[in-house]
Amino acid sequence: MSVQFVDLKAQYESIKAEIDQAMSSVIESTSFIGGPIVSKFEEGFAKYLGVKNCVGCANGTDSMEIILKAMGIGLGDEVLVPANSWISTAEVVNNVGAEPVFVDVIEEEYTIDPALIQKVITPKTKAIIPVHLFGLPARMPEIMEIANSHQIKVIEDCAQAHGASLNGQKVGTFGHAASFSFYPGKNLGAYGDAGGIVTNDDDLAKDCRMLGNHGQLSKHDHQIVGRNSRMDTMQAAILSVKLAHLDNWLAQRQKVAGWYQSELNSSIIKPFTPPKSEHVFHLFVIRSEKREVLRSLFSENGIGHAIHYPTPLPLVDAYGYKSHSAKDFPVAFKLSQEIISLPLFPEMSKEQVVAVSTIVNGVK
Ligand SMILES: *Cc1c(COP(=O)(O)O)cnc(C)c1O
Repeated sequence: MSVQFVDLKAQYESIKAEIDQAMSSVIESTSFIGGPIVSKFEEGFAKYLGVKNCVGCANGTDSMEIILKAMGIGLGDEVLVPANSWISTAEVVNNVGAEPVFVDVIEEEYTIDPALIQKVITPKTKAIIPVHLFGLPARMPEIMEIANSHQIKVIEDCAQAHGASLNGQKVGTFGHAASFSFYPGKNLGAYGDAGGIVTNDDDLAKDCRMLGNHGQLSKHDHQIVGRNSRMDTMQAAILSVKLAHLDNWLAQRQKVAGWYQSELNSSIIKPFTPPKSEHVFHLFVIRSEKREVLRSLFSENGIGHAIHYPTPLPLVDAYGYKSHSAKDFPVAFKLSQEIISLPLFPEMSKEQVVAVSTIVNGVK
């Protein structure tokens, strides 16, 4: 049995009528940028999270960059980012003129290690970007305590964790602001690029909205120098339809993850969820010392798989100028050698989970 890594077609088929209707109403309205459909999604998503403001953006990378800009972070400033994440988390820091400072991660949780944050804070440190990687919340209470004691801003990168929570509080509501991606494969995905900024700070939200729309709130009133990074109306219409299904999809992801947890034997290391965290399993990442064997078996058997991520951020060519080596980030480096992401999507069947698990269990 071959199994796709993700199956976006299965999801579309389950909501086809609603999506098609929403898309044609955008076309009929001929309002393709902004307007009430975008506002409706922004309000709906803010309500879902329990946060005051949501500002739609063109993608999740822009939304993070715009937050940094709106906070006044730039030349001469340092921003702490985890050593393993998608490249966006670090590149946005360079793109506002500041310098990313990498921090190693907690081995069992894959998220930034608060114990190491303290050691790299300098007078130049202006912000921390914790990433709720794979759908597991970073250690927000500890991170907020350190940040508040040093008057540093916290921007949560929630691209992989829509709906995840810690102590009953949703991610995206702990920091001063948070960034979401609605890239198609994310837990809440559009049919193209889209992103969003959320914050309880009304002034920050206003500045972000202006920055992403040519520095204006109303047409031709350019109060600051901005750029163009708005959410398409079509994407907002699709996202509003999908938002209503999100909790159901997250529950299905958790059910699939539960099947994996019971089917997989202990020849590999399975994902760990701390007691007070709710993991939303954007990715189901296991660790195996025989990863390369596993990869070839998956390829031979038509099992979708991926590595998130093959190289820790400080060691990618783009950051060669920092002259880091693997021993600077021992945990992230070790993880990068052993991790592999298994297929997981809400519509996945028990039979598919068993088929994948049987292959994994067979590698001794
Ligand atoms: C997907 C992702 C982003 C960027 O989102 P885009 O919408 O693709 O720009 C940022 N951070 C992390 C951790 C991601 O997984």
